[in-house]
Amino acid sequence: MNVPLLDLKGQHRDLRSELDAAIGEVMESAAFIGGPKVAALEEAIAAYSGTSHAVACASGTDALFLILAALGIGKGDEVITTPFTFIATVEAIAHVGARPVFVDIEEDTYNMDVSKLEAAVTEHTRAVMPVHIFGQCVDMDPLLAVADRHGLAVIEDACQAIGATYKGRRAGSMGTAAAFSFFPSKNLGCAGDGGCITTNDAELAAKMKKLSLHGTTTKYFHDAIGVNSRLDALQAAILLAKLPHLDRWNEARRQAAAVYVELLEGSPGLGLPAWRDYGEPVWHLYVVKASSREAAERVMTALQNEGIGTGLYYPLCLHEQKAIRQIDGFRAPSLLVAESCDFRTFALPLFPGITRKQQEAVARVVLEALAP
Ligand SMILES: *Cc1c(COP(=O)(O)O)cnc(C)c1O
Repeated sequence: MNVPLLDLKGQHRDLRSELDAAIGEVMESAAFIGGPKVAALEEAIAAYSGTSHAVACASGTDALFLILAALGIGKGDEVITTPFTFIATVEAIAHVGARPVFVDIEEDTYNMDVSKLEAAVTEHTRAVMPVHIFGQCVDMDPLLAVADRHGLAVIEDACQAIGATYKGRRAGSMGTAAAFSFFPSKNLGCAGDGGCITTNDAELAAKMKKLSLHGTTTKYFHDAIGVNSRLDALQAAILLAKLPHLDRWNEARRQAAAVYVELLEGSPGLGLPAWRDYGEPVWHLYVVKASSREAAERVMTALQNEGIGTGLYYPLCLHEQKAIRQIDGFRAPSLLVAESCDFRTFALPLFPGITRKQQEAVARVVLEALAP
């Protein structure tokens, strides 16, 4: 049975008339940069996340960069983060000239192990960048306590976690500022690249907005060296049409995750992702762990042979990547939990609209491939 890793075509078919109307309206107005749709989206994302401000930009990567730049983090500074994330998190740190410092992860959520955070703080540390990986929040209260003790900014990488909660708070509302991505495959995706920043700090929001618009306050007057990082009005219109459906989609993802638990829990040689009871994850990806590289490869090959989508998330930790090792002054740490995930953690299909029959087919192939 053919089961894609993610079914975006189905989602778009369901929303066809809403999306067509939204796109048509922008084409009719011919206002493609800035304008009412972008302002409305910023307002909607701030309200959704429970923050007072949102700044739309061109991607989640840019969102992270703009936050760091606006906070004045740069050369000689250290930013603590996780090695188990998409490289964009660390690219942003490197692009402002700061040095990434990695803390090991939890074995069953793949999130930063916050109990190891404080030991990584030095006199150079300026910020900590938790990544809510695969849509489950990092254990934020102890992290915020460490940040508070040492006067560190907290930058949430919420690119995979829009809608996730932690003790009743939304991802993206707990730190100094947060980055969201609207890359098409994210839980709320547009039709290209897009991103957004949330914060409760009005001054910081204004600074990030300015940096995203060539450092401009008044047209053709620039008081900072900025970048060109805007969200297109077309993308904003598409996102405004999709946002009202996000909670329903995230709930469907949680239900599908529960079905995998029912079908796969207790299978020897397969680790399922833990679900911490401090909040509601949004399962951007449902990532399982095989007992060895060989077992992971065997299961993934079996899935692919049946036309079932899968992929390694992530094959190689960031502190082991060539690009990261080249960063000036980088000291490669030994992070045993994260390293033990290399080539062993892979995603099973999970998306709103996946059927029980499809999940049963996935589980059957996984269990057969694992059987001795
Ligand atoms: C997708 C993603 C990003 C980058 O977002 P883009 O919009 O693709 O630039 C950053 N961090 C994480 C954890 C992501 O998953």
